[in-house]
Amino acid sequence: MLSERARRLRPSPTLAIDSRAKALKAQGVDVINLGVGEPDFDTPEHIKEAARRAIRDGFTKYTPVGGILALKEAIAETFQAEQGVHYTPQQVLVSCGAKHSLYNIFQVLLQEGDEVLIPIPYWVSYPEQVALAGGRPVFVPTAREEGFRLEPQVLREHIGPRVKALVLNYPSNPTGLTYDRAALEAVAQVALEHGLVIISDEIYEKLLYDGLSHVSIASLGPELREKTVVVNGVSKAYAMTGWRIGWALGPEELIKAMTALQSQSTSNPTSIAQVAALEALRGPQEPLQQMLREFDARRRYLVEALNALEGFRCSLPQGAFYVFPHTQALYGERFSGSEELALYLLEQARVALVPGAAFGADGHLRLSYATALEELKRAVQRIAEALRAC
Ligand SMILES: *Cc1c(COP(=O)(O)O)cnc(C)c1O
Repeated sequence: MLSERARRLRPSPTLAIDSRAKALKAQGVDVINLGVGEPDFDTPEHIKEAARRAIRDGFTKYTPVGGILALKEAIAETFQAEQGVHYTPQQVLVSCGAKHSLYNIFQVLLQEGDEVLIPIPYWVSYPEQVALAGGRPVFVPTAREEGFRLEPQVLREHIGPRVKALVLNYPSNPTGLTYDRAALEAVAQVALEHGLVIISDEIYEKLLYDGLSHVSIASLGPELREKTVVVNGVSKAYAMTGWRIGWALGPEELIKAMTALQSQSTSNPTSIAQVAALEALRGPQEPLQQMLREFDARRRYLVEALNALEGFRCSLPQGAFYVFPHTQALYGERFSGSEELALYLLEQARVALVPGAAFGADGHLRLSYATALEELKRAVQRIAEALRAC
């Protein structure tokens, strides 16, 4: 009954782990869930209040397909203030989450057989979304020793005649890597030489540590602005994963096509959630700063604690809320790879985490620290015990 396309589709492995952990929890098993990709904090109160107000005011009908003007303006103005690049509202599309914006991009950009460069390790949805649009993902290796930074020379070697686009995600899920201006410029140079469209997933840009600040590749000059689609949203920075508001900033031609696609599929993102997202951008940023301080403390704890475990090698991530320890030393007779290790830890330690294989990097595990510090401490203790028992 199913289409070829549907049969080829693999459900998100990170969401699969999450639902498995939740199922165990429902059975009464005390599982610590470090598999999730969402902040454990509640959506800030002033944002929830804006949504309540929207409902009270009857702001509950269809809005323009690509989002209300006030939100588009707030998105463009925020980007202008932070990155110094101007976008008009016609160059902004609001979608049902950043994931939806990404989906729309691949659908309107790719012809059958077009190739998209995706650095490893990658966020799980990129290859699937590319394939759904008839494209072919081309994976570009990076080196752990270089912090998984994409090397311009390696990128160049993977560019064939059918390559159309490059996906960048910084700060990265799963590694936490980000790029400074010089590293970004080196990559951008190669992309420009080959006329690539750059899909720049910047959903974690607000979650950077150690005083680092985010540089968008779209800010490196007018040529790059013309070739880049910036993707972002409120899910991660404002603890708003369930509200489903994300967006894209890019060339008008692309945004227009994405809006048309949206008009024939989802229509507008939820009216109430758009008002909440507007408040997130325009309102006080103190809750974000508080969340960031807490993430930072957890990050430091977790890296140090994991490095004390035999077989774990973990570097300090620069952003997002994941650590990505190298666990290859544990593989061999007992575990064939990250999937078996993750399964063992779920069953034996009752800690849910994501095998690196899901991100194209089997030598690793991904642990989210969007969980209370006390829980992280319990999780590490349990992992240590489970490793001693095997
Ligand atoms: C969470 C995440 C997204 C999707 O965010 P939504 O706005 O909730 O759809 C996109 N890209 C990466 C890398 C993510 O981790």
